[in-house]
Amino acid sequence: MRKFVKGIDASPGVAVGKVFLYKEEELFIDKSECSNVEVQKEKLIEGREKTKEQLLKIREKTARQLGEDKAAIFDGHITLLEDEDLFDEVIELIEDEKITAENALEQGISGYCDMLANLEDEYLRERAADLRDIAKRWLYNIVGIEIVDLSSLPANSIVVARDLTPSDTAQLDLKNVVAFITDIGGKTAHSSIMARSLEIPAVVGTGNITELVTNEAPIVVDALSGDVIINPTEEDVEKYSKKREKYLEEKELLKQLKDKTATSKDGVTVGAWANIGSPKDVAGVLRNGANGVGLYRTEFLFMANDRFPTEDEQFEAYKVVAESMKDENGKSYPVTIRTMDIGGDKSLPYMELPHEENPFLGWRALRICLDRPEILKTQFRALLRASAFGYIKIMLPMVISIEECRKSKALLEECKAELRAEGIKFDEDIQLGIMIETPATAFRAKWFAQEVDFFSIGTNDLTQYTLAVDRGNERISHLYDTYNPGVLAAIKAAIDGAHEGGISISMCGEFAGEARATALLFGMGLDAFSMSAISVAKVKKNIMAMDKASAEALVERVMSMSTTEEILAEIDKYNEELLG
Ligand code: PEP
Ligand code: MG
Repeated sequence: MRKFVKGIDASPGVAVGKVFLYKEEELFIDKSECSNVEVQKEKLIEGREKTKEQLLKIREKTARQLGEDKAAIFDGHITLLEDEDLFDEVIELIEDEKITAENALEQGISGYCDMLANLEDEYLRERAADLRDIAKRWLYNIVGIEIVDLSSLPANSIVVARDLTPSDTAQLDLKNVVAFITDIGGKTAHSSIMARSLEIPAVVGTGNITELVTNEAPIVVDALSGDVIINPTEEDVEKYSKKREKYLEEKELLKQLKDKTATSKDGVTVGAWANIGSPKDVAGVLRNGANGVGLYRTEFLFMANDRFPTEDEQFEAYKVVAESMKDENGKSYPVTIRTMDIGGDKSLPYMELPHEENPFLGWRALRICLDRPEILKTQFRALLRASAFGYIKIMLPMVISIEECRKSKALLEECKAELRAEGIKFDEDIQLGIMIETPATAFRAKWFAQEVDFFSIGTNDLTQYTLAVDRGNERISHLYDTYNPGVLAAIKAAIDGAHEGGISISMCGEFAGEARATALLFGMGLDAFSMSAISVAKVKKNIMAMDKASAEALVERVMSMSTTEEILAEIDKYNEELLG
């Protein structure tokens, strides 16, 4: 039966395809006593063999697609799977306690992980996360639950899931996925951000779509409006196929602005930059006409590994981006690289983060890096070394205090001194900047401007921290509102403070790519807009149609208003008159 579902338009586009339901059955551990010890031992052994076969297949595919070095990760996993001490311990549990294979394996793994987690050796400590991953597969194989593989999908798949973590999104089979839809999540959740940089249409926060669809059912996704139609009629399919074509044509047209700069009618030029999550995204950045990278989220490099990436591995990634971000004359575009921003909704499989009630208010980002300075120093050294190959700027996330800036600067200076002593070249004038993501920095921007070289406003977090509204919670997504006068006041305070302190300020939160807000931000004096690459052309087009004086007058009117409703009406009126 045809069903209509409404969600949040998280990444633009239109798609017509078939449901790929990503729903893993819940694991049930049978805790009853059992006398058939031999049967249980057999189940344990068969489960292990099946797991090994699966890991070997994944290894082979990874080697084909990503190279031998990434595939080698799975050799380590197989070694852990075949660990004889663990195996003997589980067999003993089955024999002595007369329990099921899955119950014994779960207990054995849990004891083993606790033991690993308490070791001095960091490498061994981090193996606990690998072991849990392997154990999950092994347990599923024992009880006969199928493990879903997102990296190999049927053609024209629309993935429907309760939620997609950033690592699920990174795994998606890009050749065959045409869109995704989730029950939960908001526009600024990291899977939504990744969908935009991968240019995959996405609708999130539908509530319960996973309960309404069946696997392989025909489905239409209009991620321009957030509409989903399950079991569409022929007319629906025709209508949305046409809408898809029209959208793709417009996207192409906008790309013709590729070589234009973002200069207003009265000659004020701002940066039109893009955000990236990996060196692979640079091609899309240049294709869409961005003249800089305003945010490189390096945590994805950390998330794609089974251990911390080494200094050399990081150096290679940063160098590739610095070298490829150049104009046709070989002049380097700025590349702003953010230090690891882990925690919140981003975890590392190999780093045990403590369970926290409020991870977004917890041990994350710069807080982790300053508590574990070896992580930050390795990254600083890699960034400094790469700075010899282009125009790299270093940016710190989640800053709340001047002390954090000074501590980070001191560590950066230590790294510079080390490299000088080692005779390794780097950009001596490299800039160190901070993100403005907390009210603590926004409202004291002038003071922070004395400490660092530039700012970038992270509205995704600044909105959630100013309003105390979780950015990923769809139940309160209607409250997550960057046009709220309090948030606009924080943004304006940051821009004014930067300029009073004599430094430049960009914005790399998703608000920078919101075409409706271009005039307001331009009028406030933002120096550069950094956004998903697909938004660059639209924002450029807007800037080219406006003049600074009228945008400033708009800001003055808006800042005297007290509700979002009035503010949006005023902005829409301005946009309508100016941009049509
Ligand atoms: C932000 O908070 O606006 C930002 C750009 O950082 P992230 O989305 O990675 O938290
Ligand atoms: Mg942030």
